Amino acid sequence: MIGQSRAVELLRRSLESERLSHAYLFVGKPHVGKTTLAINLAQTLNCDEKERPCGQCKSCLRIAAGNHPDVQIIGRWPSAEVGEAGMKKEISIAQIKELQRSAGLQPYEGKHRVFIIDGAEYLNEESANCLLKTLEEPPSNVLFILLTVNDGRLLPTIVSRCQRVELYPLSASVIEKALMERWQVVPDKAKVLSRLCRGAIGWAVSAAHDEKLLQERSEKLSGLIGLATETLDQRFAFAAGLAVQFSKSRDSAEEVLKLWVGWWRDILLVKEGCAKLVTNIDQEETLHNHAGWYDIAYIRGFIGAITTALEQMEQNANPRLALEVLMLSIPNKDKGEAQGKVPQHLGLPR
Ligand SMILES: [Zn+2]
Repeated sequence: MIGQSRAVELLRRSLESERLSHAYLFVGKPHVGKTTLAINLAQTLNCDEKERPCGQCKSCLRIAAGNHPDVQIIGRWPSAEVGEAGMKKEISIAQIKELQRSAGLQPYEGKHRVFIIDGAEYLNEESANCLLKTLEEPPSNVLFILLTVNDGRLLPTIVSRCQRVELYPLSASVIEKALMERWQVVPDKAKVLSRLCRGAIGWAVSAAHDEKLLQERSEKLSGLIGLATETLDQRFAFAAGLAVQFSKSRDSAEEVLKLWVGWWRDILLVKEGCAKLVTNIDQEETLHNHAGWYDIAYIRGFIGAITTALEQMEQNANPRLALEVLMLSIPNKDKGEAQGKVPQHLGLPR
């Protein structure tokens, strides 16, 4: 486990004093290490060696490979046990019922049964209430680990039954060092990835071995950068596209907006003479150009506008409307003032 020393320490102490909770809720941004920590904990409980987790014994290896009979990870992907196919919008009641059935059995070969629920915010009301019954009367030698990016989207009754453990984004220098030492990434690449990932080490590790991820990111970013010089019609077309994406995958659409916030924060950093701190270090020239186009007040204003749009979408506002309003707030090159003439149908003041 790289970083997360607070979380690791807390779990280590609970293990040593044999006061492990029967349910944990790991909260943290995507790719920050929630699954890795959960797997590490499951290995520690089932490892065959003295120094646990050894990472090398049969149990540790099978847990890491996802084929240990006593350790299950459930999420929104199709579940063969309950005969489902295709990615789902929610974690189904059938999956939770199956989980309850196997939680009632004795461990097959390990010492502890561990159930990891990835994306716990996707439990619907029915499946969450069903899980709640098990959390209220947990079988012995069973550990539940719920993973979520946002515990505000979980039923409060579920949250109150779990011990909350927060995982924080890692610093760029910690990630850079780990990429070079643990994953043998070359220094230049490690430097770029450690900044682009913004604390999400899992993304950096995947991107180090899969060129496609980096390419996808730069394609998304160039689409966003292009909006600065596009017409209102083109911006509205972009908003419409993103709204459709939002209806299919909330997370991926929000990711685009977060990428955009990051871009504008970088423009602000350059504008304020802190170019060394930018995230998009592979885009320095473009950042300097754009920083020359706007006054600081407009840059700040637009960062606020993106954040507002994200909040509104989080609170279930009409995504297309929120995004169209956002398009109208893009500062105009050279003047700064937004160019948008507010269309009649939005009914907003000019
Ligand atoms: Zn082991």
